[in-house]
Amino acid sequence: MNEPLLSVRGLGVVFGGFRAIDDVDLSVEEGELRFLIGPNGAGKTTLIDIVTGLTRPTEGSVRFAGTELVGRREHQVVRLGIGRTFQTAVVFEELTVEENVDLAGSFRMGLHRMLRRRRGRTTAVGAALASAGLSDLAGRPAGVLSHGQRQWLEIAMLLAQEPRLLLLDEPVAGMSREERERTGELLTEIARDRTVIVVEHDMEFVRRYASTVTVLHEGRVLTEGDMASVQADPTVQEVYLGRSRDARAQEKEAVA
Ligand code: ADP
Ligand code: MG
Repeated sequence: MNEPLLSVRGLGVVFGGFRAIDDVDLSVEEGELRFLIGPNGAGKTTLIDIVTGLTRPTEGSVRFAGTELVGRREHQVVRLGIGRTFQTAVVFEELTVEENVDLAGSFRMGLHRMLRRRRGRTTAVGAALASAGLSDLAGRPAGVLSHGQRQWLEIAMLLAQEPRLLLLDEPVAGMSREERERTGELLTEIARDRTVIVVEHDMEFVRRYASTVTVLHEGRVLTEGDMASVQADPTVQEVYLGRSRDARAQEKEAVA
């Protein structure tokens, strides 16, 4: 069998004595839209930080398309075709929406390639804006965007880098219901020809758009599978849905 696009093995990281990631294995196949869920502090962002070269693991391996990522710097990981968003969107407010996307797109290439590919890149910028539904706002300063539009801008900035793998950290946090729906459609669309890993908190959203879900808890993979089996798992209900044994016992008492 072929190696998965992303293959994490025996991954661990210790921050000053605290084990934030503990022996994590994760395989993501090309073309997947994978959701990564888990309570606050589970290690979701840290896992993304390790894959993208921001944090160096204490042990383990992260292979992407057959290449070891551990030990590579952030910009090298970007050049290999991996893009990410942060929990808080990072955009240049005074630049226009289009300029932000253009800049992000050029970041992936060296200067030489960037100048040579100027024309092709303009197309990539236009396509990224269109996918994110931002074409009409292309000439506006990014600073005037609403919270939701800013998140889409970040996604457009990623798309302009033409990554094979996108890692999105809580892209619908703080969004209205309508914006969430648009984002869900956008992610589904993107996953048609790219691989996408989405960290998400909103269970309603995950239920609606997820095919495969990986649940992290205290730095470990608690369980993995389709949404129905993950939801039916009592350990998930306990740790993630916040239904402690006590709460359930109380519910039973109340019903009785
Ligand atoms: P999540 O994204 O699932 O909410 P994080 O990955 O942000 O969780 O954090 C996992 C745990 O690791 C938390 O307890 C957090 O406080 C800790 N942590 C994350 N980054 C660092 C760091 N750079 N130094 C020390 N502790 C950290
Ligand atoms: Mg996080």
